[in-house]
Amino acid sequence: MNTLPLDLPVIQNWSCHNCGGCCTQHLIEITEEERQRIEQQKWTADDGVTQPPVVSLTRWPRKPRWRLAHRDDGGCVFLNEQGLCRIHAKFGEAAKPLACRVYPYALHPHGKSVAVSLRFSCPSVIRNAGKPVSEQRSDIKTIAELIVPDHANRMAAPAVTNQDRLDWPEFERLIEPLTGLLTDTHIPLLVRIFRSLGWVSLLQQSRVSQLTKPQLKEYLGLITRAVKIQFEELPSPIDPPGKVGRLYFRLFAAQYARKDTVQSLSAGWRGRWKLLRAILAFSKGRGNVPALQSGLNPVPFAELESSLGGIPEGTSELFTRYWQVKMEGIHFCGPAYYGFSFVDGFHSLMLVLPVTLWVARWRAKSQERTAITLEDVQSALAIVDHNHGFSEALGQRDALRRIRYLAESGELARLCVWYAQ
Ligand code: SF4
Repeated sequence: MNTLPLDLPVIQNWSCHNCGGCCTQHLIEITEEERQRIEQQKWTADDGVTQPPVVSLTRWPRKPRWRLAHRDDGGCVFLNEQGLCRIHAKFGEAAKPLACRVYPYALHPHGKSVAVSLRFSCPSVIRNAGKPVSEQRSDIKTIAELIVPDHANRMAAPAVTNQDRLDWPEFERLIEPLTGLLTDTHIPLLVRIFRSLGWVSLLQQSRVSQLTKPQLKEYLGLITRAVKIQFEELPSPIDPPGKVGRLYFRLFAAQYARKDTVQSLSAGWRGRWKLLRAILAFSKGRGNVPALQSGLNPVPFAELESSLGGIPEGTSELFTRYWQVKMEGIHFCGPAYYGFSFVDGFHSLMLVLPVTLWVARWRAKSQERTAITLEDVQSALAIVDHNHGFSEALGQRDALRRIRYLAESGELARLCVWYAQ
């Protein structure tokens, strides 16, 4: 059993509010052992489970694996009318599939401890609603004992770049100054992004593994001071994103706004053909944006390129918290993010801002409004973070190539400014 200490986020609250969202939006994969356990529980219509079988086998696009079955309304067959889990109610919390018990937590071993992050696809996480996570240590420890492997303290730190690597103590030295730049609420949001991207660019240009510990400390202090001086305010003028940048952005936006539901996966070749047509529409960026999930209706691509009143109040607090939880939870690189390096994973994390603001515009336009609200941004971030680190498409080589282009060309910073206006 693993007994590494937990590093809990100090600024995040969370309690389950029984919205049933996770039991509706997520496809829950289960192990063979869990499948047998659930089938032995002998669920019937008397328990309110009216749709046998309670598990289903999926084969596409990877090897066969078991999932909890869902009803036609999208909900897991065990979700009751009050938003509660029937397995939990009848057999206790420990009888639920492990994936259900862990959500919305994400645990990442780093050296001699385990960093705890959260998934912002949960509306209560987004709203920071509930009990402070820092006060839920014993519950999270139970989960950690179930999922953190015994060899966790021997796992290597993620690469810094694809050519450079540090041991955990030195790797962790990178997290603090970068998180500090990104979450300094005395500084406007976009200036923080320019500082952080500048800091990562300087880090990328050096071989930090060749520095001694004192040299590394001095170097990180130096580049932190340098970007603060360079970006006291936003540079001016800032060009709009270019043609290639916009194309790559739309391809990312399509992946982030997509939702794999039971209905879409069971739609067979027709569903895949529809998806292919949607990807083609996103590549062209003309005509209407295809509806990829409910609440996001077809609206002209062009309408999402004009300002909808700037970012609403509360957006800065939301993203500051999001970045702090993801950075300190090591939830942006390494095993937590497709094995990406620190630099590639950080750039991917920064892309979440413009994609979220673009989806927020789409949501507002779908409801024929001319300004985005905080609710649009919250709803958009829940959609985007649902896929961030979990969509297979976002972890593929092509996605890595595109994020590197956006970062190296400066388009990533321009996209942040463009969609925040
Ligand atoms: S098994 Fe229970 S907790 Fe898991 S998805 Fe179904 S209803 Fe939700």
